[in-house]
Amino acid sequence: MAGHIVVVGSLNMDLVVHTPHLPAMGETILGSGFRTIPGGKGANQSAGAARMGAEVKMIGRVGDDAFGALLVQNLQTEGVDTAFVKPLPGVPTGVALITVDPAGRNTIIVDPGANGQVEPADVAAAEGAFRGAGALVAQLECPLDAVREAVMLARRHGLRVILNPAPAQPLDKAFLADVDTLVPNETELALLTGQGDVRAAVASLHAWGVRCAIVTLGEKGALVSEAGRVTLMPPHTVKAVDTTAAGDAFVAAFAVEITRGGSVLSAARWGNAAGALAVTRAGAQPSLPARREVEALLTQAA
Ligand code: ADP
Repeated sequence: MAGHIVVVGSLNMDLVVHTPHLPAMGETILGSGFRTIPGGKGANQSAGAARMGAEVKMIGRVGDDAFGALLVQNLQTEGVDTAFVKPLPGVPTGVALITVDPAGRNTIIVDPGANGQVEPADVAAAEGAFRGAGALVAQLECPLDAVREAVMLARRHGLRVILNPAPAQPLDKAFLADVDTLVPNETELALLTGQGDVRAAVASLHAWGVRCAIVTLGEKGALVSEAGRVTLMPPHTVKAVDTTAAGDAFVAAFAVEITRGGSVLSAARWGNAAGALAVTRAGAQPSLPARREVEALLTQAA
C-alpha cells in the first residue's frame, strides 16, 4: 500500500428523524425514530477509508462540547488517527439536521459550527500528516482557504489530490487545475460548470485542467472521464433505504483503491459498489461498508 490517506474536512453530529413525507414550507409534521449519528463529509470519508483497510489521518475541528468528544471517540474506534482533530473552545460542534422519507430520500440542513473555523494555519500546522501519504481527500464543508492550503501541501509532498466539491460552490480554474480527481454529483457538477448536460460539463472541467472527473449519478451509477475516455458505470441493483453518505462511501473506496495502485476505472468500480451498499443502510457512518462487503458485491457482479 503506497502511503496513508489524509482527509481534511468536516465532522458533524447528524440529528436524524424519519418522516412520512418531506415537510413543505411552513408545514409541521410528526416524525419518528429520532437518532444522533456521527456524520460530516470529512469524518464519513475518513471512516469509510478506514473500513476499506486504509491508514487514515484526519485534519479538522470540533467544538469543546459533548458532540465533539463523541465524534472524535467514534473516529478513533474506526481506527482513524485524530491527532489533528482539535476541539475549539466556545464553538459548537457542527450538526446536520436530516429528514428521511420512506423512499430513502432526504433533506439536510448543516450548521458548520467548528468546521467553519478551520484555518489555513491549522492545516499548515498539520503538515506532518502529509509526509509519506499517498492521497489527500477533501470536500468543501470547511473554509475554502483551508482546503487550498491542504491542496498546496499535498502538491508539495507528492500526494494525489481527490476533491469531492460538496456542498457545491464555484471554484476557480487555477485551483481545479491542482486537483487530480474531482468527484462531484450531478448537482455539484452543474453548479461548478453552469452546464446541465453531464458530458458537456465534464468537457468543461477538462478544459479547465481537471485531469480526471468522476460524476456520481445516484441510482444511475457513475460516469468516469479520464484521458479522453468517458465510461458510464452502471449501478448495482440494491434496495435503497437511505442515500445519506452514498457519495462519501464512493469517494472513500475510490481513494483507497487508487492509493493501493488500482487504475481509475478499477477504483471507480470499488466506489460504485461502496456507494450502492451505503444506500441499503440508514445513517451516515453506520451505512459505510467494510472492505469484505465491497469485495463480495464486486465478485457477485463479475
Ligand atoms: P451523493 O450522496 O454525493 O449525492 P450519489 O447520490 O450520486 O452521491 O451516490 C453516490 C454513488 O452511490 C453513486 O455514484 C452510485 O455508485 C451509488 N448509488 C447511489 N444511489 C444508488 C442506488 N439507488 N442504487 C445503486 N447505487 C447507488
